[in-house]
Amino acid sequence: MRGRFAPSPTGYLHLGNVWSAFLAWLQVRQAGGTLVLRIEDIDEQRSKPLFAKALMEDLHWLGLDWDEGPDKGGPFGPYIQQERYDHYAAALEKLKRLGLLYPCYCSRARLQAIGAPHAGEHTVYDGHCYGLSERERQKMTKKPSWRVHVPRRTISFTDTVYGPFEEELTRCCGDFVVRRADDMYAYQLAVSVDDGAMAISHVLRGEDLLSSTAQQIWLIETLGYEPPSYTHVPMLIDTAGNRLSKRQHGITVRSLRQQGVTAEAILSHLAYAGGLVTESRIYSLEELVQQCNFKRLRREPIVIRPDSFSKKFDV
Ligand code: GLU
Ligand code: ZN
Repeated sequence: MRGRFAPSPTGYLHLGNVWSAFLAWLQVRQAGGTLVLRIEDIDEQRSKPLFAKALMEDLHWLGLDWDEGPDKGGPFGPYIQQERYDHYAAALEKLKRLGLLYPCYCSRARLQAIGAPHAGEHTVYDGHCYGLSERERQKMTKKPSWRVHVPRRTISFTDTVYGPFEEELTRCCGDFVVRRADDMYAYQLAVSVDDGAMAISHVLRGEDLLSSTAQQIWLIETLGYEPPSYTHVPMLIDTAGNRLSKRQHGITVRSLRQQGVTAEAILSHLAYAGGLVTESRIYSLEELVQQCNFKRLRREPIVIRPDSFSKKFDV
């Protein structure tokens, strides 16, 4: 099995990252597989090399090691998305050859107007620009984004934690952006190309990406790769219900470390809060690999209290 951890270097490693890194690491280590570290820095404005370096240091400090990555190399490199643009360009070429790629000239206002009614739901694009003729396209002055045209097809998959899903592509995502008008490659494209090209067999990540899974499976297949199996894990939230992964709420590994909290204390508490172990105590990494039981993982968001990592837990 080949798993991966794919953080975006837009800030210091926070507990939300640690939670998914830890579980991706655990899943691979329990199975004796290979773990890939991939730096997802396609957002060129928000990503900083400084943060990529810092998150690798923090993962090392936590004891969460990987087998292939920017610092280690490996047969599926490069492992930094900004060095993989030729792969994304080739994927767009393939979609173009398949007749699935088209320019979208819609304004932000128009896209907002057709937006999904409930916050958090995917906006399903109405296909407005799919039908434009070559002549109409030539009259456009705006620089387009590029969308991939999805067929009316139902994608079935079984998430290890959240069970079976059947998603009809034109209803769950519609034609989606693969390259933005500012030339940046879209997350959906980069992640699908990379999971496919890096032969990832097991994706483990936060539950917030469950709703992107059907479109990624379809894109991975369309590009000629074998789709991985998926394990989505519940989000960590604070007592007010805010996600700990949100930058403004993130408790960072660095701040905990400065307070004298140990790596084992952090991982042991997360394992206990998530239901993976039944006893609240400090476990070594070896014990966590032996004793964590994925079948007991909770499905509901996991509340992390601000004092959870205080020293008293540490004795
Ligand atoms: N880079 C994404 C993030 O930091 C994760 C993407 C994924 O796991 O598919 O949230
Ligand atoms: Zn459009």
